[in-house]
Amino acid sequence: MISAVSADWVIPVDAPPIEGGIVRYEDGRIVEVAVGRAERHFAGAAIVPGFVNAHTHLEYANYAGFGDAMPFGPWITTHISRKRQLDAEAMLAVARLGALECLRSGVTTVADYSFSGAAAQATADAGLRAIVYLEVFAVPAADAEEQWHEKRQRVEETPLVRIGISPHAPYTCSLDTYRFCLSLGVPVGTHLAESPHETEWFLHGSGPLAEIGMFLVPPPGTRPVQALESVLGPDLLCAHCVEVDESDVALLAARDVPVAHCPRSNALLGCGVAPLTPLRAAGVRVGLGTDSPASTPSFDLFEELRAAVYAARARERRADALTAAEALALGTIDSARALRLDADVGTLTPGKRADLTVVSLAGSPYHPVEDPAAAVVFGGSPDRVLETIVDGQTRYRKAEETEWREVRSIASAARARMLGSPRPPRP
Ligand SMILES: [Zn+2]
Repeated sequence: MISAVSADWVIPVDAPPIEGGIVRYEDGRIVEVAVGRAERHFAGAAIVPGFVNAHTHLEYANYAGFGDAMPFGPWITTHISRKRQLDAEAMLAVARLGALECLRSGVTTVADYSFSGAAAQATADAGLRAIVYLEVFAVPAADAEEQWHEKRQRVEETPLVRIGISPHAPYTCSLDTYRFCLSLGVPVGTHLAESPHETEWFLHGSGPLAEIGMFLVPPPGTRPVQALESVLGPDLLCAHCVEVDESDVALLAARDVPVAHCPRSNALLGCGVAPLTPLRAAGVRVGLGTDSPASTPSFDLFEELRAAVYAARARERRADALTAAEALALGTIDSARALRLDADVGTLTPGKRADLTVVSLAGSPYHPVEDPAAAVVFGGSPDRVLETIVDGQTRYRKAEETEWREVRSIASAARARMLGSPRPPRP
């Protein structure tokens, strides 16, 4: 059966915006994008491709504010000790909340690095498209293999959920571990060059990463990107890449290494501003990720789009360093390219999967609309998402948000457990 939605604007991203546009889809696939009006018409709204969130940790959905403004050492210690309070059931409840928050923000695909694997179940249940990269922390590759097999048997692939592996970072995993992960033929993602502390540890073996003592690989005396040189390639998704100099950018480009840019996380953890413009200019496949509430306040992809624009323009001191249309592409098709999902998602194009988001622009300062991409990027918010459709199925509808009460209350009980005893009452 053919379904259709229409709105004041349809923004295909790979083609100019269509005023009074319609998207028709059948069996989960887009069949037509054109001028027209459907029975289900959204006045004062824009239809955009579902956002592709290139870096999340859904199972940290309720970790907001833990260790805020702390240096990296105490920050990570707080997270580790609090995470220990949660059993598998609680982790699943929190991951479910994360999946729903993503849908509420118009996200239809996530690239999720998962410690427990709970994200696989949570995304499958929510109907969110996902690559779930199971995290391993290992110096001997044999340890990575053991962790992989142990976690892999807990999770299942579905038509929408693929399973990958995440060697956590080059300061917790050896090159042999990276080679093992890349030999599996599944998607591979890591964290790379995130903080000045990481650079300090790689160059000098000192600083907070050395003091924590969970980092076991001897530092090679090179910059982080150089340290991974022998394993860098188009199949290794690298989150962050803040601490990169010109030669690192050139190496990432030469090896066609995909990068997930996470400007809010990098800013809030005091890590810096990634060189988005130079990376893009060098031809690196850069996508956009919210990271998780362990470091950012939310999975709000609109906030992330704006942060990307602010950071790029402030860093380059040019108002055109990242236009609204480029930002919208960054959060959709560019992220899809970074994840190698661009044949299926990222634009509203006949033949691709029907992943789309309806954003209300009514009452925003950008309405009536002059530039629809700017209206979505600067005027959009999760509260303005009216509907999120994944693979032709409506997975979120604004009016039905009350159904989440149970998910929220279970996740909030898990958070209370992590916070320990209740706060003393105010005087
Ligand atoms: Zn991360």
